[in-house]
Amino acid sequence: VLAAGERDRYFGDDDIKEILYTQEELSRRVREIGRSITEDYRDRASERASDGAPGLVVISVLRGAAIYMSDLVREIDLPLEMDYMAVSSYGSGTKSSGVVRILKDLSSQIEGRHVIIAEDILDSGLTLKYLMGVLESRNPASIEIATLLRKRTERQVDIDCKYVGFECPDEFIVGYGLDYAEHYRNLPYIGILKPEIYQGK
Ligand code: 5GP
Ligand code: MG
Ligand code: MG
Repeated sequence: VLAAGERDRYFGDDDIKEILYTQEELSRRVREIGRSITEDYRDRASERASDGAPGLVVISVLRGAAIYMSDLVREIDLPLEMDYMAVSSYGSGTKSSGVVRILKDLSSQIEGRHVIIAEDILDSGLTLKYLMGVLESRNPASIEIATLLRKRTERQVDIDCKYVGFECPDEFIVGYGLDYAEHYRNLPYIGILKPEIYQGK
């Protein structure tokens, strides 16, 4: 049964082995995360940065987390600044290289402010571990991670995520911002990509 506004066919359907989270399930879960954040940060919401900007900064790691972040911030009922970072880790393949490079840094100063990193998916955790180190060295008042997905995998480094949308299987997944070679980001659901699409590449 389709929810209102959902089509019955999408361009990528034939490349998807299994749908993990529908558009409806994603929006429900993102709403819940936004509500938790609103509760947890409400008493700090009146704080301001020295330039008058909101005390709360939500940072998205481009490009995978951009869609999730844009939905999430609209479920946080508090003043906040949106900012973006771009790092390289995967290239166009499916395995983490372990090499993280900052391609675009924040526009904002985060010293003394409350930072939430909105991440799309935690796989090995190497990317976030590195980013946390970089951001912590700038002395924010606090820093937490709100990841939409966390893979169940042995590879994961020890990393503390305050907000986790879904624990997902250790497969290569796409949609809702997540790509394979820049395809599938605009699929409204999240699914497992058929291995034959990327095998031998
Ligand atoms: P990590 O450093 O945690 O291994 O992975 C970092 C980044 O790799 C994620 O933020 C995401 O952009 C990408 N990534 C990890 N797993 C997947 C996956 O299953 N599908 C896609 N499309 N990207 C992934
Ligand atoms: Mg990411
Ligand atoms: Mg990618």
